Amino acid sequence: MQISAPMPVPQKAQTATHHARHLSTSEATKESLFADTPTVIVPDTESPVGCSPSSATIAETIALARGHLDHPNAQEPLDDFEDDISDDSQLSSIVPDYVFGFDLDGVFLRGGHVIPEAKEALRILNGDNDEGIKVPYIFLTNGGGKTEKERCLDLTRQLDVPVSPEQFICGHTPMSEMGTEYHTVLVVGGEGEKCRHVAENYGFKDVITPGDLIKWKPSVCPFRKLTDEEYANSRTRDFTDVNIEAIFVFADSRDWASDAQIILELLMSKDGRMGTVSETFTEGPPIFFAHNDVVWSTSYDLTRYGMGALRIMIEALYKESTGKAIDVTSYGKPSKATFDYATRVMQQWRKDLFNDPAPPRMVYFVGDTPESDIRGSNEYDKHSESQWYSILVETGVYEPGTEPMYKPRRTVANVLEAVRFGMEREREKRAGKVPEV
Ligand SMILES: [Mg+2]
Repeated sequence: MQISAPMPVPQKAQTATHHARHLSTSEATKESLFADTPTVIVPDTESPVGCSPSSATIAETIALARGHLDHPNAQEPLDDFEDDISDDSQLSSIVPDYVFGFDLDGVFLRGGHVIPEAKEALRILNGDNDEGIKVPYIFLTNGGGKTEKERCLDLTRQLDVPVSPEQFICGHTPMSEMGTEYHTVLVVGGEGEKCRHVAENYGFKDVITPGDLIKWKPSVCPFRKLTDEEYANSRTRDFTDVNIEAIFVFADSRDWASDAQIILELLMSKDGRMGTVSETFTEGPPIFFAHNDVVWSTSYDLTRYGMGALRIMIEALYKESTGKAIDVTSYGKPSKATFDYATRVMQQWRKDLFNDPAPPRMVYFVGDTPESDIRGSNEYDKHSESQWYSILVETGVYEPGTEPMYKPRRTVANVLEAVRFGMEREREKRAGKVPEV
């Protein structure tokens, strides 16, 4: 059985949304994924889990909550929303007060393949457990070069469970809340026009790419020649009187030299205007990076430099040129903004479903990297209304047997054990036992 999408795709989510769209993995195309509406990707396979509409409930309710959070004006009365959850028995089996947060790479995936225990871990959370309860979960990933929607499609195919792109919080996701704050922005990184589309999807009204600036004046980057395709995609515009209000590095730069040249010019400019130089170096636009990972793993034997390295380069060149330090904002784990945003999604979810405005009482956060996952979760726990309980798995970056630089509350072999541990701990609490710390 396939669950397909008979509904026409609305152009804007500003229209009231009663249901998430259901797309099967074979139907989901790049174009359909870019539509700005809550979506659940459902596997094509004959897997009993994939076919059960109830296993889509978690994904669906989080998709709708995220839609409400990102487009508050489209918010509907709670009564309407409850009518749309397929039936009450599905709603009553969802636990309201604790959730799981997962890192993706090294937890569910290793070298592009799903780790063996991953499917069962999600089956259990989706209700295949003794109590028949469903536990909500979200993914927090610093990601690399793909949109939440593409990552979601990959994951649904690999895990055979319905997943919603709205369950993904990538490094650049918190930037979606800044679409109303800045009008004209420079967006850097990623393949082709992809990040421009992501930014426009996030609500930014006037999105400029380095390609637009090079098309305007090729001498901005003397060694860079746009390909025919890049030239066609870049927009024709006179930038003489345009003030760029902010710079967003959404994904890894594909051309460090040109991107650094343009970023530095703007940082040192008067009010973000190309061709100007500030006398005080205090008039440039702010710069935001989607994450701060200096290196990342590829199929090559050694790690490669990533976005955090570009940030270091920009800071060093700015200092060299101006004698001043530049103030940079980086999102992604371990930054607070990413955990804040995840909290707000789950808070909205609880408000939608249970009419309770509080965030979840407990978040079990499962990751493989002590420096980002465990550090971020532990630090966030200190000033969060929710408790964040860090769990380190041994299927990724962390070397079993070594002393992690940031100590998790618990270390387990893999994600399945992490899920079993958290759920058992909650069961003991409900039974009045004092659980392990
Ligand atoms: Mg990881």
